[in-house]
Formats: sequence, structure tokens, C-alpha cells
Amino acid sequence: KKRIFSGMQPSGLITLGNYLGALNNWTKLQDDYDCLYCIVDMHAITVRQDPQKLRKQARDLLTQYLAVGLDPEKNIIYYQSHVSQHAELSWILNCYTYMGELSRMTQFKDKSAKHADNINAGLFTYPVLMAADILLYQTDLVPVGEDQRQHLEITRDIAMRFNGIYSDTFKIPEAYIGKVGAKIMALQEPTKKMSKSDENQNNTIALLDEPSVIMNKFKRAMTDSDNQVRFGEDKPGISNLLGIYCAVTGVSPEAAEREFANAGYGTFKTSVGEAVVAKLEPIQKRVKELEANKDYLDSVIKSGGEKAGRIAERTLSKVQKKVGFPVKI
Ligand code: ATP
Ligand code: MG
Repeated sequence: KKRIFSGMQPSGLITLGNYLGALNNWTKLQDDYDCLYCIVDMHAITVRQDPQKLRKQARDLLTQYLAVGLDPEKNIIYYQSHVSQHAELSWILNCYTYMGELSRMTQFKDKSAKHADNINAGLFTYPVLMAADILLYQTDLVPVGEDQRQHLEITRDIAMRFNGIYSDTFKIPEAYIGKVGAKIMALQEPTKKMSKSDENQNNTIALLDEPSVIMNKFKRAMTDSDNQVRFGEDKPGISNLLGIYCAVTGVSPEAAEREFANAGYGTFKTSVGEAVVAKLEPIQKRVKELEANKDYLDSVIKSGGEKAGRIAERTLSKVQKKVGFPVKI
């Protein structure tokens, strides 16, 4: 089986965008691939986090990974900070990565503009830690959104550079492109993507929003002045809502347009809201059940960390030997 690695930062509440663009696809890969799904808490501290909140968000992310259907028997699910090999390999790879290539990363440019008061070295070397995440597991495929493509490129460059100097050490990973790359847009500003770090709560649907909150957010979602429910470049708001409807129901775009051909915006938005509520309700129920089962969550994360650590150590010790570190006795 080919190996897949992916991760999410515990940097806020998981959104419908994260679910439709990533998590939901991950659940479809678990039978055909050997998957590692990491909760990348070390990446999250590249911007300032409240410690209590970060710990809770990491736990919530674990709960939601499981609630959407990621099976801990089939996948390795773990916290990045529990597997110290990530940090160790990251340090070594730092020494094989150039300042010049890191300064070309658009995420660094974006995030350093947004967090001008805290442009720390970790924010700059974020892609090196991500390279370590991926390369430690001899990963074949990395499901990435458009936003992470550049980081996968630099991962490949670092791996090839290292292999070139010392002989083959790392598998060169490739991007995994899902069938339909759902990109969900912000409800109030449908020309930008829905993001869990958005301060405007009306832009996002959180996976754990109450049904009444979901219905209200859809009622308030930005539309446009003509009264037709159809896809169109001139209709970002309605197109986004239609896309969401299709993604949660499995209805085709054409069928969805037909279904709402004679509906007003009010009726249409209510239908979208109801479809999303119906999709999220079983997940929310499962989250509640899991939260009541603390021992189970602890056991999942403990065994996930142990399994990941064993694989990671094989790569790390090879690397340590190749660069010339004295062998431990
Ligand atoms: P942040 O605002 O903190 O960057 P985010 O919502 O962009 O949060 P990430 O942790 O950066 O979430 O990304 C997690 C995964 O979700 C990635 O695979 C990313 O491509 C995907 N993703 C994020 N936002 C969307 C969206 N609006 N539509 C579809 N997929 C998305
Ligand atoms: Mg993001």
C-alpha cells in the first residue's frame, strides 16, 4: 500500500471547508492507503496561542477526526509534539535548506504581514518542519490544498538535495489530488475562502455549530441582486451555496440548479441550511459520545504516537548516521 501523510493545525474550530476540502476526503482514503493523520500542534505555535486553548483545540481536533469516521485501527492518528523525531529531523533539514528558498514562500509573506508583531524564526522555517513531517514516514502521497502546494515543492527539493549529497534516504513525495477539490468560500465574503482563523464568525460554519446557528448563518449569507439560483462567475455567493448543497447531498450541479429553478433565495437558503444540518448532526452526536469516553481518546493518541514514533525513528536514525553523528551505544 502507498503511504499518505496529512495534518491539520489545531488553530481553531474546524469549519465546513476543512471538512469538505480535507477530512471527508481522508475518510475515503483509509481503506486503500496506509495513512498517517497528524494533529500538527508544533506548527500551530508559529503564531501566538493561548496554552489552555491550544490543548483543548488539539483534543477537539482528535475528537473530530474520529467523529467524521477516521478509524484509528486503519490510520495512525497522533499529536506531532508526541513524536520528538519531527523536531529532530526538522533541525537537521534546516541545515540543508536555504534562506533564499524559504523567503520565497507565499504563506510566510502572508502570515508575516498578518502577524507583524511576531515574525518569529518558526514562522520562517515552518516549511522545513512540514518537510520533516512528510519525509520521516517515507510518504508517497500528500493530499494538499492549493495553499500548501509550494510547501510540498520545497519538501521535494530538500529531499532530493539530501539524497543527492548522501545517497537515497528519503522517498520523494507527490501531491495527491482528490477527485473534486471542493473549495468552500466565506459566507459573507464569497470571494475569499472559508478559514478557521477568520475573526468573522458569520463567514464560517463550524463543524460543531448548533443547528439553529447554522440555519441563521445561511439565512444571512451574502447573495446577489438577481433572483436566480444558478452557478455563475457573476454569482459567487449563490455558487458557493449551491456547491455546498451538492457536496453535502451528493446531488449533481445540474440537478441542484433544476431543483431550485423556481425557488426564491429564502427557500433555497433554508434548503442548504437543512442539508448541512442533516449532514453534521450525526457527526455532532458522535463527538458528544467520544467526549464522554476520555480513556478511549487517551488510548488512541497514545498508541498512535507509539506507532508513528517507531516508523519515524527508522528514518531519523538513518539520517543521523549519514550526516555523521556518533553512533549511540
Ligand atoms: P487557517 O485559517 O488557520 O490557515 P484553515 O481553515 O485554512 O485554517 P488549515 O489547517 O490551514 O485550515 O488546512 C487544513 C486543511 O483544510 C487543508 O487540507 C486545506 O487545504 C483545507 N481547507 C482549508 N480551508 C478550506 C476551504 N475553504 N475549502 C476547502 N478546503 C479547505
Ligand atoms: Mg490555511
